[in-house]
Amino acid sequence: MFRKYVRNGYVTFIIREAIEVRIPIKIYERYSKRYSDRDIITYCVHKDIYNHITGRKLYYITEESGIPLIGHTAFGLIDRGTNLIQVRPCSGCNLNCIFCSVDEGVSKTRVTDYMVDPDYMIKEFKKLADFKRRHCKNQNIEAHIDGQGEPFIYPYIVDLIKKLKNEADVVSIQTNGTLLNERIIEELEGYLDRINLSINSLDEKKAKILAGRADYDINHVKSMAKEIANSEIDLLIAPVWVPGYNDSDILDILKFGKKIGAGKRWKPFGVQKYIRYRFGRHPKGAREMTFKKFYSELRKIDESLILSPSDFGIAKCKSLPKKFKIGEKVRLKIEMHGRMRGEMIAIGRDRVIQIIGTEKKPGSFIDARIVRNRHNVYVAVPS
Ligand code: SF4
Repeated sequence: MFRKYVRNGYVTFIIREAIEVRIPIKIYERYSKRYSDRDIITYCVHKDIYNHITGRKLYYITEESGIPLIGHTAFGLIDRGTNLIQVRPCSGCNLNCIFCSVDEGVSKTRVTDYMVDPDYMIKEFKKLADFKRRHCKNQNIEAHIDGQGEPFIYPYIVDLIKKLKNEADVVSIQTNGTLLNERIIEELEGYLDRINLSINSLDEKKAKILAGRADYDINHVKSMAKEIANSEIDLLIAPVWVPGYNDSDILDILKFGKKIGAGKRWKPFGVQKYIRYRFGRHPKGAREMTFKKFYSELRKIDESLILSPSDFGIAKCKSLPKKFKIGEKVRLKIEMHGRMRGEMIAIGRDRVIQIIGTEKKPGSFIDARIVRNRHNVYVAVPS
């Protein structure tokens, strides 16, 4: 499951093509006299961990770390007060889409990645799903795997999906499709209910431009779309409409989806509006449509493109209790580096809190004021 090489004074192990563990040669040589490589990777304390896809520093979050899985948007679980629970096993992406809302892949703003241990994720998901079942009787629980990145770079994704199916009625995932193959799709049949697949243009050249990678292969993604449509897994095609870039492609994508039989159980398309986020990427010359204009354009094409949560069986369901109030002043221990420079991650009251505007180091304490608590996602600033 891993390969290794020696470079720049480190023995580097690549685990499942996703995680890089670097150990100084001298330390490795000392340990390797008594321990196997597997033991060294697991137990050696002198090691740095990186995301092999993005090259960024990676925190691997286990139950033993004591880091809760509720409170951050880059990893863990998000409960937005419905019967759908967002599952975010890792951050990081293998593409560099020019419109990416979270500036993923080769990034100017993101400096840290996170990955959650699959057993820990399942344990915490089960707790949250049990809470939902207690409070929202007769509602299906959906586990929707998404994230700030591409979920199929997660090395335990198949295992995670299979285990989630024991806890949730519906399991769905969002993906750019590049890492899918026939074997994975076949293996996921019976466990995964729906794949939301990003296709932004069927034109090879334009698709590469939108994906921000010269090696992006739309023909592979198209063949995976057909494979999914012919499997027991439902297919939803989800293009992002970037004005000035793929206006003329949306109709072609819809035609393609209809032809291959997308959306047997749920709606076949989920056209998304390009939104200019402050810390996202902004393609040159792309003008953001207003929501009014966007919906009116969709209506002109086909009324059924307007989606509502009920199309996917999503209904309101009691949220987990919030642990901090807006404006509350708290003393928190900083545990990890944040996703961007000038951000750190603290924990408190079984929640993760993102602290913005601090240079304090992990292990130190900070007096902070909570400025955001919506959906149990917490942001604080130094007070
Ligand atoms: S596939 Fe998604 S997460 Fe990855 S760069 Fe594109 S938009 Fe961002």
